[in-house]
Amino acid sequence: EVAELPAYLDHLNEAQRAAVLFGTEPDAPERDHPLLVIAGAGSGKTSTLAHRVAHLLASGADPGRILLLTFSRRAADEMNRRVARIVAQLAKSRPRLAGASLEWSGTFHGIGARLLREFAGRIGLEPGFTIHDREDSGDLINLVRHELGLSAKSKRFPMKGTCLAIYSAAVNTQAPLGEVLQQSFPWCSEWEADLKRLFLAYVEAKQAQQVLDYDDLLLYWAQMITDADLATEIGARFTHVLVDEYQDTNRLQASILLAMKPDGRGLTVVGDDAQAIYAFRGATVRNILDFPAHFDPPAHQITLDRNYRSTQPILGAANAVISLASERFTKDLWTERAGAQKPRLVSVRDDADQAACVVESVLARREEGVRLKAQAVLFRASHHSARLEVELTRRNIPFVKFGGLKFLEAAHVKDVLAVLRWAINPRDRVSGFRAIQLHAGIGPKTAGRVLDNIASAAPGCLLLAEQPVPDAARGAWTAFAALLESVAASTWPASLEPICQWYVGEMARLCDDAAIRAGDIEQLARIAATYPNLERFLTELTLDPPSATSDEAGIPLLDEDYLILSTIHSAKGQEWSAVALLNAVDGCLPSDLATGSSSEIEEERRLLYVAMTRAKDALDLIVPQRFHVSQQHGHGDRHVYASRTRFIPNRILESFEQTSWPPPAVAPRPTAESRRIAFDLGEKMRSMWK
Ligand code: ATP
Ligand code: MG
Repeated sequence: EVAELPAYLDHLNEAQRAAVLFGTEPDAPERDHPLLVIAGAGSGKTSTLAHRVAHLLASGADPGRILLLTFSRRAADEMNRRVARIVAQLAKSRPRLAGASLEWSGTFHGIGARLLREFAGRIGLEPGFTIHDREDSGDLINLVRHELGLSAKSKRFPMKGTCLAIYSAAVNTQAPLGEVLQQSFPWCSEWEADLKRLFLAYVEAKQAQQVLDYDDLLLYWAQMITDADLATEIGARFTHVLVDEYQDTNRLQASILLAMKPDGRGLTVVGDDAQAIYAFRGATVRNILDFPAHFDPPAHQITLDRNYRSTQPILGAANAVISLASERFTKDLWTERAGAQKPRLVSVRDDADQAACVVESVLARREEGVRLKAQAVLFRASHHSARLEVELTRRNIPFVKFGGLKFLEAAHVKDVLAVLRWAINPRDRVSGFRAIQLHAGIGPKTAGRVLDNIASAAPGCLLLAEQPVPDAARGAWTAFAALLESVAASTWPASLEPICQWYVGEMARLCDDAAIRAGDIEQLARIAATYPNLERFLTELTLDPPSATSDEAGIPLLDEDYLILSTIHSAKGQEWSAVALLNAVDGCLPSDLATGSSSEIEEERRLLYVAMTRAKDALDLIVPQRFHVSQQHGHGDRHVYASRTRFIPNRILESFEQTSWPPPAVAPRPTAESRRIAFDLGEKMRSMWK
């Protein structure tokens, strides 16, 4: 039988092949039964999933009816590339498959947004609804907070960021507010009643303005399929639903899957409980552990135990770290990749030395032929890389930072996006406030009045041009109103052009750094042109924006070589030849923000495991002897003496090599040769004057 298997399955191991083939044979008794692949890092879960998708396509599945859910859009793109590569091979013998690609792959949030746009009319949403990013959501909740007089009531009332975090935690865990407060925000418990009032008003504001925040995308999706007809319709649209990184999904996401596929038919999930690192956002590892028992008969379960990514010394050290975890389901992995070099624990003096040391070894590796792109520097918190970024910029080494400040967070880029969003959805107050006040001579009062008029007008019955703006701004306003109408009327992406031109023109009048800003706006237009329409552009940009880079021009061209800087969270699922981890010290990892409960500490341990298992050939953990902590209440910085992370206690030290940088300075002793040079030079100097 095995001899008949297609060649693209040849290089898979037996367990992987079983995972690809399970339930795909037309007359198998377990045809399309639910499948769980639970296995450790680098064991090929993601590539097995890609092969399974390709195999489904080869077996006749409709590419438009496969739903692939990944953790980030980058991961989805990568998966699509892998599938395309296999499919391209297949297409040689099966022309039907030529160019086949998945239409539905992305994050839960991105797919949710698309489904909601499509079904908007049937659930009482306007198809042009706006999606708010976290910052917009913070602005809106702040607005509501002021309106309710909560900020005036007491100076101690939680700030907008905290309010939003509490709201989000309650939504994502689906737990009562009191419980959420008690567990994660005990210092806010006294405000429970006011917070309830705030959240109710926030929800009402979002509804009135046709605005959805990140969490709403899941909530509405889940809500939408409580309707039996819609659940069946949407569930039946996808013959197969496959999910990567299932250990980091939350209850809501699991409930969505189960509502779409109540009997689990066509459902495949893969993940690793040892890499669960998103509990702080409401993810629960129970989803993956409880998955099999949801179904009758239980889902089929396959484990993979061979690691293909890392050398033995690296894998051994990672295994040693995770073996100290208090709870764990997946087993240790083994690898055949020999390697002489143990992961290094590099002791450095401080942040500056840490940056210099990392830059030096990155450059040394590049000399050996390891491209920058095959190297990564990881850290627990985004600001940990600040010193390194300075050093890289100074030495002209290009880098891209994942999970850090986003290109789209730049004020002028947000301006343009606000105009576009407001053009589509005039009820969106946060975008409206921003867009209207771009005009000289129009302030918050006028903006508020215009937005109130819009809120009370029947849809389509409001003439923007006739709004009561100050006389001085009248001309500019009329032109602006016409511009907004043109966005809806013209075709994509040409519709973007007049807005960009207008904005760049405005800026040239108003600001000094207009040239840089104009460059960013051009960059934005280039990115926009790669999306099929304005809605998809706004949605996907809001949900998963491209990263900031070392140069102000924005995103580097794909063929350039650059070093990757990433938070550990954003590095999930990826791999590099060489990895350096910054600040492998207590207080950073575990973060001193997490020293609360043991479950938080355990999550930090898994973070270290995730970081270490990204490395294929070389791994450096940098241990500064002291580091800066920026004080919370503006008392400046302070130095703290640091010690190696508690997750690498003495008893597992033998898995690492301990070194320090710079290497202890030994003054070179003069040799016969150096003495001769010194002598010759001296002689020459003197002889000039003899
Ligand atoms: P993570 O838990 O970090 O997400 P993973 O289990 O998803 O890891 P993959 O990223 O799919 O693992 O694979 C890790 C590496 O091993 C990749 O470079 C992949 O190409 C390689 N690999 C996987 N399976 C095989 C195989 N059978 N033969 C050779 N290489 C393989
Ligand atoms: Mg993976």
